[in-house]
Amino acid sequence: MAKTFIESIAQKLRVIPNLDRAEANVATKKLEKFPHSDDWHHHMELDANAWPKRVEKNYSLVPTTCFNCESACGLLAFVDKESGQVAKLEGNPHHPGSRGRNCAKGPATINQLKDTERILHPMRRKGARGSGEWEKITWDEALDEISTKIRASLKTGAKDRVVYHVGRPGHEGYTNRVLKAWGVDGHNSHTNICSAGARTGYALWHKHDRPSPDHANAKVILLTSSHLETGHYFNPHAQRILEGMMDGAKLIVIDPRLSNTAAMADHWVPTWPGSEPALFLAWAKMILEQGTYDRPFLENWVNWEMWLDADHPNEPKTFERFIELLKDEYAMYTPEFAAEECRIPVEQVIEVGNIVAGAGEALSSHVWRSAAIGNLGGWQVSRTLHFLNVLTGSVGTKGGTAPNSWAKYKPVLFDEPPAPDGWNELHFPPEYTMSHFEMSHILPHLVKEGRGTMDVYFTRVFNPIWTYPDGFAWMDMLQNEESVGCHIAMTPTWNETAFFADYVLPMGHSAERHDINSYATSAGKWVAFRQPVLREYARREGREVEFTHEVNPGEVWEEDEFWNELSWRIDDGTMGIREHFMSPYRPGKKITIDEYYQYTFERVPGLPKAAKAEGLTELEYMRKHGAFLIEPATYKKHEQEGWPTPSGKQELYSKTMIEFGYPEHALPHYRINSHVHPSNLEGEDEYCLLPNFRLPQHIHSRSANAKWLVEIAHKNPIWIHPKDAKKLGVEEGELLKIKTEIGWFVDKVWVTESIKPGVIGCSHHIGRWRRKQDAGNRFMTNEVKIEDRGDGKMRMRTISGVESWDSDDPDTSRIWWRDGGVHQNITHAVQPDPISGHHCWLQKVWLSKPGEDELYGDVEVDMEKSMAHYKKWNKWAKQRETHPRGERRPLWFKRPLAPKPEHFIMKDHKE
Ligand code: SF4
Repeated sequence: MAKTFIESIAQKLRVIPNLDRAEANVATKKLEKFPHSDDWHHHMELDANAWPKRVEKNYSLVPTTCFNCESACGLLAFVDKESGQVAKLEGNPHHPGSRGRNCAKGPATINQLKDTERILHPMRRKGARGSGEWEKITWDEALDEISTKIRASLKTGAKDRVVYHVGRPGHEGYTNRVLKAWGVDGHNSHTNICSAGARTGYALWHKHDRPSPDHANAKVILLTSSHLETGHYFNPHAQRILEGMMDGAKLIVIDPRLSNTAAMADHWVPTWPGSEPALFLAWAKMILEQGTYDRPFLENWVNWEMWLDADHPNEPKTFERFIELLKDEYAMYTPEFAAEECRIPVEQVIEVGNIVAGAGEALSSHVWRSAAIGNLGGWQVSRTLHFLNVLTGSVGTKGGTAPNSWAKYKPVLFDEPPAPDGWNELHFPPEYTMSHFEMSHILPHLVKEGRGTMDVYFTRVFNPIWTYPDGFAWMDMLQNEESVGCHIAMTPTWNETAFFADYVLPMGHSAERHDINSYATSAGKWVAFRQPVLREYARREGREVEFTHEVNPGEVWEEDEFWNELSWRIDDGTMGIREHFMSPYRPGKKITIDEYYQYTFERVPGLPKAAKAEGLTELEYMRKHGAFLIEPATYKKHEQEGWPTPSGKQELYSKTMIEFGYPEHALPHYRINSHVHPSNLEGEDEYCLLPNFRLPQHIHSRSANAKWLVEIAHKNPIWIHPKDAKKLGVEEGELLKIKTEIGWFVDKVWVTESIKPGVIGCSHHIGRWRRKQDAGNRFMTNEVKIEDRGDGKMRMRTISGVESWDSDDPDTSRIWWRDGGVHQNITHAVQPDPISGHHCWLQKVWLSKPGEDELYGDVEVDMEKSMAHYKKWNKWAKQRETHPRGERRPLWFKRPLAPKPEHFIMKDHKE
C-alpha cells in the first residue's frame, strides 16, 4: 500500500516506524531477530500475559549497558509507553562485545530496578554509627554537609584524607578526574582482592597488566580458573569460547573444582591450588624440547640478549645458544615434577602439554582472579602462563592472547586537572614496592597500626565488611570516628558496609545512570554508552530533564551529576576546583552531563563519520545505538608500537625484579612454596579451602535482592570429596566446623566428586546478612546477631533464615527458600603477598565436627589473631623493602591516579 505524504514525512522524522521495511518483510516473509533501530521508539509486541487475546503493548526500546559485572554487555530497556516504566531488559544487538546476548544477571537488572526494598532517598544516620537509625534528607542537605567536610579537609593541605573507595567502577576516568580536580591522591579500589596477582605477572612481561584472549579464533583455549568464565568476562567470553569450539578448538580448563566451564572442557586438569606454574613450566619445557617455539617472535621481541649478558656473559650471544641455555634453565620442570606438584597423573601432563605445544600462534589463554590470587606467589601463575604465549608466539595474534589495553578505548576528557601533589601511604605503603595496586585489603590494619586516618571516606558500590577477608576489622575501623571522620556509602542497595555509614546515597543501577564503557571482551575495540533509559525516553517524548534523579525511582541519582554538583559546592571560590567543571562549549558556565558525553564521543575514532551518515550528532548516535565498534580486530600492534617495558621487549628477564630485591625471580619460575602447598598441610585435619569461585548468578554487593537470581542460587555449602567426607565421618547436609587462622565458621557439606580430594570449596556471593535494625535484601539475607564476647572475640549467629513478607511485589510472599548460607569471608585472615600485594584467598583450614553450642551459620573471629596474622605476612614485605634510586615502585609500572613524578621517589632519598 502506498504511503501518504504525511506518513512519508513522519517516517523520515522517525516519528513512526519504517513502513517500507515492515512491508518488505511481510512480502518476503522475513522474520527479524531484533526490531530495526530506526523503529526502537515505536515497538509493538503482543502481551504474552494476555494470551490468547491479542493485546498490543507499545514500547520505546532504549539501549544501555549492564552494570552487573565489568563486561558491560549491551542491554535494551523496554519502556512501556502506557506506564512510562521499564518493563523488561533484553540484549542490545548493536553492542559489539555481547552481540545481543546476556547472562542471567543482565535481564535480572529489572529485579534490581523494581526491588521494593531499595534505597530511594539520601539518608543520614541519627544514632551511633551502625545503630541502624536513619533519617531522610534532601540532596541539597547531603551536598551541603558533605562538601563542607571535604572543604575543611582540603583546606588543611592534606592530600590523602579524602578517599573514594570503589567496588565496581564501570566507567572510564570519570571519578579519577574528579579526585584530581580536588587535588587528592584518594583513589582506592578492590583490585588487590581481585586481579592484583594476575596483573603483576603480566606486567612483568610487558607492562600491560591484563590478557585479552581471542577465543573465537583459537586452536587451543587454555583457562586457568576457579571462576572463569563466570566472572571476567563471562558472557562475551563464553559465547566466543563456544564459537571457537564449534570451529574445532580444544578447551582446557585448569581448576581444582569442576566448574560449569570445566564440565564443558575437552580436558579438565584439577591441579592442586597454587601448583599451576609447575604445570606451565613443564609445558614450556615440552615446547622447547619439541622445537615448536616461534623463533621469529622470540628472537625479535624477547629480551633474551639481556639475560645472556647478565647471567651468561661468557656464552656466545646467539639465538641457538640462548635456546640451549633456556632448556637448561627449565630442565627441572619435568612432567613427573609437575604431576607430583599438581597431584595429577603424569599422562595428563603430557597429553595436554602436547596439545598446548602444538597450538602455534592460536593459543588463547586466560587467568584473572582465580588461581593468580589464591596463594603466596600467585602472580607466578600469570607470569608462567604468559610464557607459553611467548614461546608459541601467540601474543597479540589472531586466535592468540593480546594485551587488553590494545582493545580498550581510553576516552578523551574535556579537562584534565593536574596530577595530585602527594602520595597516599595508606594505599601504597612503602614496603609493597610492586603492588598492583592499592593495598586495600589491609587498610583497617594499617589504620590500626597508626599509619593514617581519613576525614571523608566514600565507599561506592563496595561492600568490604562482607566481601573482604577479616570483615570484623572493617567493622571496627568504620565504627571508630577517629579512624574515619565521615563515611559515605554510595550504593543502589543496602549492604553490610552501608549499615556503618554516616550518609547513604542512593545511586542508580545500570539503566539509571551515565557511563562510558570499553573493555577488551574480544579482539575488537568498542565503546558503549550506559545511559539512564527513562531520561532518554523523556527526551524522545519531548520532555526536558535537568538531572537524572528527576526520572529515576524516588530520588535515585547517578554519580556523574552528583560529583559535578559536589565539586562545585566544595569550592568556596578560592580553591580552583570549579575551573575543572566548566562547559567546553559555553565559556564560564558549569558543564552539563550531555556536554560531558558529547565532548568525549566527538573524539571517538570513526564515530563522527558514522553519526554523520545517519544525520545524527555523536551523542545522538550513542543514545540511539548504545555502542560503537572502533576497530574490528586489534592484532599485532607491537609491530608498530613495540612493548612499553624498559627493554622495549617482552621481559623474560626482569632487571626490575633484581633491583627491587627479588633476584631469584628474575626469570619466570616456580620458587615459592605457598601457604597451602601440601608440605604446609600436614595434619590429618588440615585442608585447603578454595573460597573464591564465583556463582554465575551473583555479584558481590548488588544481587541480593535480584529475586530471579536469588531463587536460582542462595546457599553456599562446603564442597567436599567423598573420600574426605568419609574420613571426617560426615554425610551430605551434615555440619562441619571450618577453623581458619583467625576464627571459624559452621557450614553444611555437599559431598561431591567435583572437588579435588584434600581441597574443600565454598562459593562467594552467599551468606549475606542483616541485623534486626537493618533494612533490605530480604530475598537473600539471614538475620544475625553480632556479639562482642569481650575477650577479643567477635561472634555472629544466625537468628533466622530467609523469610517471606508482604509488599507491593507478590513475589516477596512466595519465597520458598529459608537457607541464606554462611558468611565465610569474615573468618579469613588477611594474607598480603609481599610482591604483588594481592590477598591470598586460599585458606589453610582445620576441619572437625562442631561442638554442641556451635550451630549452622555461626561465625567467630579472634581480633588479636587477626592483627597478629597480618603482621606476620606484612613482615615478609618489610624484610625485602628495597628502593633503587629511591623509587617507591618501578617507575614504568602502572599506578592508578598517578601523582606528580617527584612523589614516586621516597621522601628521605638522597642523591
Ligand atoms: S556478563 Fe552478564 S553480568 Fe556481566 S555485563 Fe554481561 S550480562 Fe551483565
